[in-house]
Amino acid sequence: MSARLLAGVLAWSAAAPLVVTVASPRGERRVPVRAERGYPSVAVAQLAPVLSVEAGPPRGGAAHVRVLGRQFDFVLDAGYFRFDGRIYTLAGGPYVARDSLFVPLQWLIEYLPRFFDGVLRYDGGRARFEERPGGVALRPPTAAAAGPPAAPAVPAGRRRRIVALDPGHGGRDVGMIGPLRTRPFLREKDVTLAVARHVAEELERRGVGVVLTRTTDTLVALGDRGRIAGGRGADVFVSIHVNAASRRWRDAEGARGFETYFLAEARTEDARRVARMENASVRFETTADASNGDPLSFILNDLAQNEHLRESSRLAALVQDALSVVHPAESRGVKQAGFMVLATSYMPAVLVEIGFGSNYPEARYLTGAAGQRRLARAIADGLERYLAEYERRVTAGNP
Ligand SMILES: [Zn+2]
Repeated sequence: MSARLLAGVLAWSAAAPLVVTVASPRGERRVPVRAERGYPSVAVAQLAPVLSVEAGPPRGGAAHVRVLGRQFDFVLDAGYFRFDGRIYTLAGGPYVARDSLFVPLQWLIEYLPRFFDGVLRYDGGRARFEERPGGVALRPPTAAAAGPPAAPAVPAGRRRRIVALDPGHGGRDVGMIGPLRTRPFLREKDVTLAVARHVAEELERRGVGVVLTRTTDTLVALGDRGRIAGGRGADVFVSIHVNAASRRWRDAEGARGFETYFLAEARTEDARRVARMENASVRFETTADASNGDPLSFILNDLAQNEHLRESSRLAALVQDALSVVHPAESRGVKQAGFMVLATSYMPAVLVEIGFGSNYPEARYLTGAAGQRRLARAIADGLERYLAEYERRVTAGNP
């Protein structure tokens, strides 16, 4: 968790009550507020006897909670939820403890009163959450009602666009090391940071705002990278990586070239291989809990109707095209696969494999200042073209 995110969570936790009284015509109950995960949470089972709140057992890393008949979708330990087709962010995620599903108090007392205006109310002074009787019509959540800290949908109208640049790996997660069959001199985490910094300079010079998910040699959890970007108002997300040939390939050290991915179900074994390789970064994250199943599959299912899919594939095409102009090796094309780092960024998002660090000439190119700058300028070109297209669509009233 970034210092900024952590500060937000702490500020929020300090104001939280130790007990919340929940009340409805069915009765009243004092529900203890837990802070075992560092942010205030309550057990759904404690709410259910009094409020119209119910939840099935979490499955595959996903949890669904129904409130007054409307469904909220959560991913365990992930700081967001989906309701009515929109994504909203939370200071912390739901979790299972002592066979019970806990949900963040923030969801209960901050969000629910907004979604069920006039039916659900929270009185902060008395730490009292109330469900009023009667089937009052729900006010559908709107962008205005959502407000912060909802994940930003790209707002209409002109404003400075912000690109999130995500240098892959970092800290003890070195990424790939190359090239093969010689003394290795390339570490992926160094190349991705150097190139991302150059892209940032390029974009800033062109008047585009930039957020970097890391600026030093530190490890940032895959699940936090998209959240950092979203929390800082980014409009698009670009993760930068270096590819590595599988040693099992017949001509492993000969493989080279660049490819750009967007998040969707993988279509080829090679795309699956690259996603497995990049997702393996979670093994460096001490907070990762392997028992939580695969939240990614849940998000992937969700993506079928996700508007960002089309946007992301367009962004990937423009970045890949721009790289084709400068890259010494041939284009391996635009591909799709299930990257965890893209799954938590609710905005058009791509992952670029800028070359094979396992190939000697390509490793030289990727570690050289000239190559890094050339690739960075190309990535900035692709992004700039994408943002210009996007701006035209927004202006035409057809985002
Ligand atoms: Zn990587």
